[in-house]
Amino acid sequence: MATKQILILPGDGIGPEIVTEARKVLEAADKKYNLGLSFDEDLMGGSSIDAHGVPLTDSALAKARAADAILLGAVGGPKWDKIDRAIRPEQGLLQMRSKLELFANLRPALMYPQLVDSSSLKPEVVSGLDILIVRELTGGIYFGQPRGIRTLDNGEREGYNTYVYSESEIERIGRIAFEMAQKRQGRVCSVDKANVLEATMLWREVMDRLAPEYPDVELSHMYVDNAAMQLVRAPKQFDVLVTGNMFGDILSDAAAMLTGSIGMLPSASLNQHGQGMYEPCHGSAPDIAGQGLANPLAAILSGAMMLRYSLNMAQAAEGIEAAVGRVLDQGLRTTDIATEHSTKVSTQEMGDAVVKELLA
Ligand code: NAD
Repeated sequence: MATKQILILPGDGIGPEIVTEARKVLEAADKKYNLGLSFDEDLMGGSSIDAHGVPLTDSALAKARAADAILLGAVGGPKWDKIDRAIRPEQGLLQMRSKLELFANLRPALMYPQLVDSSSLKPEVVSGLDILIVRELTGGIYFGQPRGIRTLDNGEREGYNTYVYSESEIERIGRIAFEMAQKRQGRVCSVDKANVLEATMLWREVMDRLAPEYPDVELSHMYVDNAAMQLVRAPKQFDVLVTGNMFGDILSDAAAMLTGSIGMLPSASLNQHGQGMYEPCHGSAPDIAGQGLANPLAAILSGAMMLRYSLNMAQAAEGIEAAVGRVLDQGLRTTDIATEHSTKVSTQEMGDAVVKELLA
């Protein structure tokens, strides 16, 4: 069997703690399912700035290019907040996304029945929730040119950005959404602001053009303001939501919170070849770093997504997800998801419990 090379980038803050647990779980899955995984590690973000003066070195990037998949903890923290913007930790992340052309960001929001009381919404609104947000990640207003802050003739300053999408950019993210829906409930809702923004009128046109190629998928459209409202009113109406970079940034955070804790949410960023970077949705949580308080489940579930989407190892992915479910059934909880009746465990204890269930 060909070895699958995984590059691990622990990053900063709680990154190294949670990634240690995710790696342990992947190694256990490797043992159980005989996957042929091989691991390498490198630095990105603040840890790389401290060691090399830049958030991402050429050699770490070369390793990432050569890997089958990348597992990232999180980057950033107050220690690096005041340094030059061009070499801040998050620049490492942005460079990685753009150099590897990781244009498709997949963010599932899945409500574990055991955690239904952790949501800020009523149990009947969120129980059984299973949605996937597909966000375009390398285009749109976050990258569009021209951009900047200029001084007008009257001396007043003006900030400006450009919301731009080409047909090919829309088409490739649209195809990902349709393909994902084919493996799920067969529904795509495309989110735009086509009543106001020309770029999203084109977005809607391209989605409509693609739809007949996927007759088993039902396509609908929704304006972003309504989508924000519907996500908190009746989120279960959605299966796959596909949208541009900025709308996706905002909606995916809202969807994340429907499920209770940010410590539970994995994500994937894929390129055209299925290569991907997998990371929890949360940041480096410097406020709890080094205390064994971080929830490693988002990182562990990111590892499961990696097996499913980049390495084609769905059975092992399901094994990990089921093991996480059983650990929650036992009432084990890190602080962020703990309740009165649960058993509080540390980051490491949670990782150990998942390994134990996986191998049981
Ligand atoms: P954050 O997600 O790091 O933390 C927000 C809150 O959630 C904090 O109270 C934190 O303790 C808690 N939290 C986050 N993850 C948790 C986990 N696994 N278990 C338990 N609690 C958890 O967001 P922030 O505080 O806005 O950002 C902190 C740093 O992370 C900043 O430097 C920011 O730039 C960076 N950041 C990085 C990424 C990334 O690497 N992809 C994403 C977002 C933020």
